[in-house]
Amino acid sequence: MSEDRTITEERRRFLKLVSGSAVLVPVMGITACSGGSDDAPPAAPKADAAPAAATSGMPRISEDDPQAKSLAYVHEASSIDATKQPRYKAGQLCSNCALYQGKAGSEWAGCSIFPGKAVKASGWCSVYAPKPS
Ligand code: SF4
Repeated sequence: MSEDRTITEERRRFLKLVSGSAVLVPVMGITACSGGSDDAPPAAPKADAAPAAATSGMPRISEDDPQAKSLAYVHEASSIDATKQPRYKAGQLCSNCALYQGKAGSEWAGCSIFPGKAVKASGWCSVYAPKPS
């Protein structure tokens, strides 16, 4: 008889333990899935500093761009030393080059030599070709 009683007590302890765990596991799962604290929602992503944009909406080409360097592109044609750049002739500018895609007066615009980048109206590169008159 006392053995039956011991088994019953053991069973009760076991069931109590199991039922307690059964409640704890889901609670722990909810806590683990909640992603941590209930602090303020994540902040909106910071806007990255936009690259210098041309009026055309395209990014401006850098003089350090490998293709720009290979074609001797500069933002200011007036800075070109004609003795070192014999292809350059005074008065040649992107703005009067046949490949310049900007309207009259635009400071920066696309150029078919540098797709997706804007060149400066006062610039120049060794591919310069005069606009037909
Ligand atoms: Fe400027 Fe003409 Fe050279 Fe383009 S091709 S970068 S418009 S000089």
